[in-house]
Amino acid sequence: MKELHCKRILVTGGAGFLGSHLCEHLLNQGHDVLCVDNFYTGSKLNICHLLTRPNFELLRHDVTFPLYVEVDEIYNLACPASPVHYQHDPVQTTKTSVHGAINMLGLAKRVKARILQASTSEVYGDPEMHPQVEGYWGHVNPIGPRSCYDEGKRCAETLFMDYRRQHGMAVKIARIFNTYGPRMHPNDGRVVSNFIMQALANEPITIYGDGMQTRSFCFVDDLIDGLARLMQTPDDFCGPVNLGNPVEFTMLQLAQEVIRLTGSSSRIEHRPIPCDDPVRRKPDIALSRSYLAWEPKVPLEQGLQRTIAYFKDLRLAMGRDQQASAVPGFAHH
Ligand code: NAD
Ligand code: UDP
Ligand code: UDP
Repeated sequence: MKELHCKRILVTGGAGFLGSHLCEHLLNQGHDVLCVDNFYTGSKLNICHLLTRPNFELLRHDVTFPLYVEVDEIYNLACPASPVHYQHDPVQTTKTSVHGAINMLGLAKRVKARILQASTSEVYGDPEMHPQVEGYWGHVNPIGPRSCYDEGKRCAETLFMDYRRQHGMAVKIARIFNTYGPRMHPNDGRVVSNFIMQALANEPITIYGDGMQTRSFCFVDDLIDGLARLMQTPDDFCGPVNLGNPVEFTMLQLAQEVIRLTGSSSRIEHRPIPCDDPVRRKPDIALSRSYLAWEPKVPLEQGLQRTIAYFKDLRLAMGRDQQASAVPGFAHH
């Protein structure tokens, strides 16, 4: 007989960066984990160490198609998160966010499961309010190259709130701010992985624009703790709630910190700023502090050191000076 506290938990996007850490965390808590992924940006390498664990199950499936399984909780993370990847096939990105949310909400409704949506700070767009509080409605371009992701995630939030109002479901919405750490895709195109891979290869660090735009970086362990806490809140709390580190850095500062910590001889090279790139981003986390008793613990320097160690090992596995795309299991778009 199963332990009472042991739940059957579905993690969509479970072979991705955040999803793989979440699967591991939930297994360590003693739960049964069903990881669903179509390997669009995720990798079997992220979860191969979990495959031998008896409580772990892997299913290759695209969430834009219906899924019939029996579970108690659903974490809906399926969606490419890097601008390079989500803009590669923007129609599929919107389908994943919107059809994926409908299917997972339909599933949650049928089996009466709690469901948590991995939303994003991108719902605030290029924000006119700083720092961003959950009550802010955002400043989003509905027709630009980032819109497939931003508007897809906004529509998913709408669906979550409507399923809650219409069907009385227990839903949770996490607005995740930039998160980094081991198992980021080396060719992912996001700033932390780019800078570290470039620094380790002593290649130029590519700063888009003047480097004065800001982001606030949360280490993956802190973020996973926040997601798990949000899922455990009472049914009457749905969020949305910001999850992120409120310590703000310019991209120039980040580049300098990565160069310092890697001891790299890389120089800085400026490239054009991408369309609609947000100028400033920093979460107000008063809500997560009060409702979840959560705040990030890992400072940037410590988190970067752990991430740098991961990418160093990865480069060794790849063979000296080889491209990340040569690593088996890493799709490259
Ligand atoms: P990731 O790209 O590493 O992971 C996404 C996973 O979803 C991948 O394994 C991918 O293969 C899978 N996937 C994509 N489309 C799918 C589909 N149609 N069906 C099934 N699986 C699919 O990205 P991540 O950083 O781990 O992000 C996970 C979630 O968190 C995403 O929903 C993302 O929008 C959200 N998020 C992440 C961040 C961040 O900084 N990492 C910030 C805000 C929001
Ligand atoms: N769905 C699913 N798994 C389930 C139940 C539903 O994938 O276990 C999908 C189903 O394909 C449907 C969607 O979820 O299109 C929304 O379901 P809902 O019951 O809300 O709406 P309806 O079935 O009326 O369209
Ligand atoms: N960026 C950069 N160089 C890179 C990759 C990104 O300067 O090689 C910048 C990008 O323009 C943005 C910030 O870093 O201002 C964060 O980019 P990322 O793609 O990681 O995430 P975003 O927050 O934009 O979704």
